[in-house]
Amino acid sequence: MHWFRTGGGLYWAVFVAAFLGVAIWESLRPWRELSEPVERRWGRHALLLVFSFSLSAVLIPASPLLLAASVAGSRYGLLNRPWLGDPARWILAILLLDLMRFAVHRALHSFHFLWRIHQVHHSDRDFDVSTSVRAHPMEVILFHGAALAAIAILAPPPGAVLVQQLLSVFESFFSHANSTLPPWLQRVLGLVLYTADTHRVHHAVDVRMQNSNYGDIFPWWDRLFGTYVPAATDRKITIGLEEFQQGERPPGLVFLLKQPFLPDRQ
Ligand SMILES: [Zn+2]
Repeated sequence: MHWFRTGGGLYWAVFVAAFLGVAIWESLRPWRELSEPVERRWGRHALLLVFSFSLSAVLIPASPLLLAASVAGSRYGLLNRPWLGDPARWILAILLLDLMRFAVHRALHSFHFLWRIHQVHHSDRDFDVSTSVRAHPMEVILFHGAALAAIAILAPPPGAVLVQQLLSVFESFFSHANSTLPPWLQRVLGLVLYTADTHRVHHAVDVRMQNSNYGDIFPWWDRLFGTYVPAATDRKITIGLEEFQQGERPPGLVFLLKQPFLPDRQ
């Protein structure tokens, strides 16, 4: 399985290509001006990304692809049923792994301590491609552990895991773009994928808006569970959290790492 050995390389190739593609799109068609220089934001968020991914790799040194390959023959895997047929196993695997991310994201908003961890992502006063990697190490570890648990339970086809991972990494950048789609394209694409116009609603200061649009790749889970809110392109929308709107300069890396453990702000 040559594709499997190159799976990791393909993941990072899509990671870089999606980031650069969205960054170029933002520079050509920005939704609105950022409140601080882009180099400062990207530098801070890149450091957080490296720290979070490194810690996650050290604490849980297992790759979803390797795990999927090692449980591919397991009799106990819920999707390891030959009678399902390959197309159904692939589709179910991609959908269920996406549903798992929806559920974890919803839990991050529902339980106090998990919300404190996820606040690091939401406290960004701007919304651009780099917001997607602004996650506390504990959140990265939580998503990584949940993905491994889901793969162990489902025993999905390894190829389907790779496709879901590639779609997810593309979507993480695409849905955080400081850019907007032409209305006709938003109407069509918004039916099948999360776009920045739809996900931006989730980053609004308004808590009712935050408690919507939790999805990762497909918008169908939010529609199914009644948490879907239509796209927002209003440039006056306030992004972030009410208690993090003050201060001239946004907090730095050390603050972001300590943030879940600090007293609640008023
Ligand atoms: Zn969220």
